[in-house]
Amino acid sequence: MTVAAGAPAGATGSKSDGVSDSVGGVDLRESADDRTFRAEVRSFLEDGLGGEFAAVRGRGGPGDEGALFAERQAWERHLGAHGWTCVGWPKEHGGRGLSLRQQVIYHEEYARARAPGRLGIIGEGLLGPTVIAFGSPAQQRRFLPPIVAGEELWCQGYSEPGAGSDLAGVATRAERDGDEWVITGQKVWTSLAHWAQWCFVLARTAPVADPGRRHQGISYLLVPMDQPGIELRPIVQLTGDSEFNEVFFDRARTAAANVVGEVGGGWRVAMGTLAFERGASTLGQQLNFRNELDAIVAVARRNGAAGDPAVRQRLARAHIGLEIMRLNALRTLAGTESGALAPAAMITKLYWGTFHRGLGELAMDVRGAEALTSVPETDALARLFLFSRADTIYGGSNQIQRTIIGERALGLPKEPPAATGNKEPR
Ligand SMILES: Cc1cc2nc3c(=O)[nH]c(=O)nc-3n(C[C@H](O)[C@H](O)[C@H](O)COP(=O)(O)OP(=O)(O)OC[C@H]3O[C@@H](n4cnc5c(N)ncnc54)[C@H](O)[C@@H]3O)c2cc1C
Repeated sequence: MTVAAGAPAGATGSKSDGVSDSVGGVDLRESADDRTFRAEVRSFLEDGLGGEFAAVRGRGGPGDEGALFAERQAWERHLGAHGWTCVGWPKEHGGRGLSLRQQVIYHEEYARARAPGRLGIIGEGLLGPTVIAFGSPAQQRRFLPPIVAGEELWCQGYSEPGAGSDLAGVATRAERDGDEWVITGQKVWTSLAHWAQWCFVLARTAPVADPGRRHQGISYLLVPMDQPGIELRPIVQLTGDSEFNEVFFDRARTAAANVVGEVGGGWRVAMGTLAFERGASTLGQQLNFRNELDAIVAVARRNGAAGDPAVRQRLARAHIGLEIMRLNALRTLAGTESGALAPAAMITKLYWGTFHRGLGELAMDVRGAEALTSVPETDALARLFLFSRADTIYGGSNQIQRTIIGERALGLPKEPPAATGNKEPR
């Protein structure tokens, strides 16, 4: 969309510079309505971040998640009060009902304004859409409004010491006790658990003897975090921050009604959540990466690294990488007029994770020897380098992404389970 931002919509086709205004027959130029919408988002963000919320501008990004919690919580509530959370959710569930196109404009403007990292990202991006798709009306009434209002934060209890890529290996158990489930086990790498009021937990509710059917008998439970049966241990990361945690459940409890989907049928729900994790929410993020590349170019100009032809080539390659990401977002959008993401969207996570890790390496190389003394607490490029090591792991590692592309986008034969022990890659 930003290809032609500001250009009037009219006849589609090739321009004199050879760049097409349309992909797959869909006009990508910004309409008058899109431009009005972009101006509305920009002005709302400028009002807040230029005034009362100036302190949170540029804070809370990767590696800086611990920054200014109270101030960012106030920002979440400010967004919620003005209808700027959950912008892609349907209106009947409290969202803004934006088209995918307008969601991308929103995320682009959010990044352009250097608005803070979102505390509510897991509730808004993962749990909320899952409850909308699979939850009961009672669950929707209970759990969606506090997410929209920026009042309740969520964390994702999937991974365990013995279950990461091989998610069907979850060993956390839940047993029925009257009107409650009793949960025992351990999760790991649980992002933002120390702030969350709720966790969506994958737990085994029925044993399965056949290893080939391990994805059966798992349930998707909504569990309150503030209770004696839950202990958190923060994990200190390379950045010095503790964005994620170990979470121990020792006879923790939740109401029997807090199962999303069928008891024992949580695998389908869990896969639905992962599709949201890898889906539309990442389409606008190249603007965040653009801000980072601009900062790297500024360093290269200042310290003379830009005089080195090899550095100039790498900077140019990074610029091209961002353009490819943007054009792929456009291509994806062109295939989503019906609401479903195109198979091409499956390359998004693999591409941006690999790109971003490389951008962190470029930042350090441009810095040169000075990088050795930079401190992540006060240095955004050092945080970029250190945290982006994780980009090719979380949300499904690069290897797993390649398997997904091979099997689901290209229709190649399934990975033989005996080769890996994995039945269902994340
Ligand atoms: C910053 C960060 C935040 C995270 N936040 C959360 C969170 O909030 N909640 C949560 O539940 N989890 C979270 N995770 C965990 C994340 O989902 C897992 O790390 C990821 O799924 C990989 O699992 P693993 O770490 O157990 O590695 P493993 O699955 O043990 O993989 C180890 C290596 O083997 C490779 N491998 C494994 N299986 C295959 C295969 N079949 N074919 C080819 N290669 C394979 C992997 O690609 C990887 O390189 C987070 C991780 C990070 C880094």
